[in-house]
Amino acid sequence: MRKHTLTALLCLMAGVLIISCKKEAVKSTTSSSEISDETKAKIYALGFGTDNVRKVDGGYLVENDIVLTEENLNTKVNSPFLRIAESEQYRTTNLVSVSGTRTITVRVSGLGSAFIAGADTAIARYNRANLTIRFSRITSGTANITIQGFSQGPSGGFITLGSAGFPTASGNPFNQILMNTHPQAYGSNPNVLYVGSVIQHEIGHCIGFRHTDYTTRSSCNQNVNEGVAPYGAVLIPGTPSGADANSWMLACSNGGNRTFNANDRIALNYLY
Ligand SMILES: [Zn+2]
Repeated sequence: MRKHTLTALLCLMAGVLIISCKKEAVKSTTSSSEISDETKAKIYALGFGTDNVRKVDGGYLVENDIVLTEENLNTKVNSPFLRIAESEQYRTTNLVSVSGTRTITVRVSGLGSAFIAGADTAIARYNRANLTIRFSRITSGTANITIQGFSQGPSGGFITLGSAGFPTASGNPFNQILMNTHPQAYGSNPNVLYVGSVIQHEIGHCIGFRHTDYTTRSSCNQNVNEGVAPYGAVLIPGTPSGADANSWMLACSNGGNRTFNANDRIALNYLY
């Protein structure tokens, strides 16, 4: 998930900051040219844009918020997909497998109190939704999902707020959420409900939700189709065919507190 930034404007307003703003942007951005043509071709073949690909731990960040692992890149995609309307709720082909109920553990590692409180906020919201998957935060040992930090300034008018991936073929949630600790992401004193809303969104990816507006990224004021491959984009029955302005799985943040709307709850209850 990401948001618009006012970097350019802020830099113009404070001439003295011009150099430092540029420095941050350069320091924190891996140029797409550092990604090999072969890798870019694989990413393109899977239906993702290659303009702003970044190498991250465990793979490549595409569309600013989705991690493609080497395994994903080498997956041959030939399964059919179902798409009935353009603005409904979508899930990936793989989901978290559940028999009865399943508790997914979450651990926050190396991040400040706002991120811990934000994780607790997100977990409480999922647990209040009364699903067959529950979430529980642990403070030692290996969790099913580890939330860690990275620091990266804005690029191209956007800043990445957080990133995650999708469930594994064996039915486990994606195991890592990365949250941006750069001050331009959440400020120097992050708002817990804002951070919590982003964690809630990234957990959505980890358990198999795609962006509600994946065909357009309209929440980012874009008209870009993220593509179906390699994860699939399977319609969730009972969700509306109209645009869903307040869904927690919109690609871009509204810059504040956003939680499940009525259609999100239908989608969550259908899957879990
Ligand atoms: Zn997202």
